[in-house]
Amino acid sequence: MRDPTAFLGQEYADLVTNATDWKLRVLRGASTPWCEIDGKKVLMFCSNNYLGLSNHPKLKEAAIEAVRTHGVGSGSVRPIAGNMDLHVELERRLARFKRADASLVYQSGFATNAGLIPQLVGEGDLVISDELNHGSIIDGVRLSRADRAVYKHADPSDLERVLGTAEEHSPTYRRILIVTDGVFSMDGDIAPLDRIAALGARHGAMVYVDDAHGEGVLGEGGRGIVSHFGLSRSEVHVEMGTFSKAFGVVGGHISGTKELVDFAYNKSRTWLLSGSHPPPVAAACLAAIDVLESEGEHVRRLWELTRRFKKAMQSAGFDIGQSATPITPIIVGDTHRAKALSERLFELGVFALPIVYPMVAKDRARLRTIMNAALTDDDLAFAIRAFETAGRELQVV
Ligand SMILES: *Cc1c(COP(=O)(O)O)cnc(C)c1O
Repeated sequence: MRDPTAFLGQEYADLVTNATDWKLRVLRGASTPWCEIDGKKVLMFCSNNYLGLSNHPKLKEAAIEAVRTHGVGSGSVRPIAGNMDLHVELERRLARFKRADASLVYQSGFATNAGLIPQLVGEGDLVISDELNHGSIIDGVRLSRADRAVYKHADPSDLERVLGTAEEHSPTYRRILIVTDGVFSMDGDIAPLDRIAALGARHGAMVYVDDAHGEGVLGEGGRGIVSHFGLSRSEVHVEMGTFSKAFGVVGGHISGTKELVDFAYNKSRTWLLSGSHPPPVAAACLAAIDVLESEGEHVRRLWELTRRFKKAMQSAGFDIGQSATPITPIIVGDTHRAKALSERLFELGVFALPIVYPMVAKDRARLRTIMNAALTDDDLAFAIRAFETAGRELQVV
């Protein structure tokens, strides 16, 4: 008899042969600047913990206290019996932070995009996506029955072309949704959201931004990309984000009008049918908002370190692409060289994972570094020395 699961081992073996399998590393203990990975003490240079909040004492205390008062689980999905005061308070505080009428918290950013996008557009509608959008947006779009179109990365004139073509469509589309990442995680560039929003307004389209890498980073006090461009809720209709990156915890969210939130929680199956956040998660997210509102130094420090690091990498001769954020790609080109550079850096005490094909084009392999506000000046100097040494040894610079 044929083994119906034979493909599992075969496909995995193919991944290993092509060196496209994930070799998981083990982080022992907390995600702090100096941490232990696969038994070696290294400087963390590729986590999404931009502000170091995953180890902030206020977040840790809030989580511990919530376990004492509320337990470790919510007991249900939110529409039935799992809508705790902590979830409601978190949404109230998030909306205030985002200067929106209302916010809604989902279990994750992925669950937000996968749950909401297919409700905003369906049959007879069109969704228009930046060609480099995140995989969770791609899956959300696939779950909808809407027609799909893609515009060239961060290119408003190509978006205008797509919108023009859509207008010639007959019968005309019922609804049009434009969706874009705010900050693109492979290159660290910022979407031209002001121009995208203006095009949306001109063509009567909804605008949805996924600000996973912009929150806690861009805008006033880390309020994100909508604040960065000074846009209003009638220009950007859905501001989506996550608590899993700069906020240091986990959970997705949207902010916008009250109508948006009422619609979203009644319609998103990922929200309705999946257990709500454990109390320590909700409490830690609340504390993260507190910290962002009361301790402006973390965002300032993030940018100061970012500027110093980019300057040092450029003067050392590295190609750091077009980034405008604390994500700094160190573009090497060839896959094997990117992997060799990452390995040498690891030996020298810096952890920065290579990003290679198929995540980026074949000749654009890179190390993707992400700055962390918790680094000391000495830590940064140590990292810069390691990059200079490894770059020279491997003739990248
Ligand atoms: C990380 C990320 C997500 C997923 O967020 P999670 O909360 O970790 O599920 C979605 N979109 C973008 C652009 C991301 O970078």
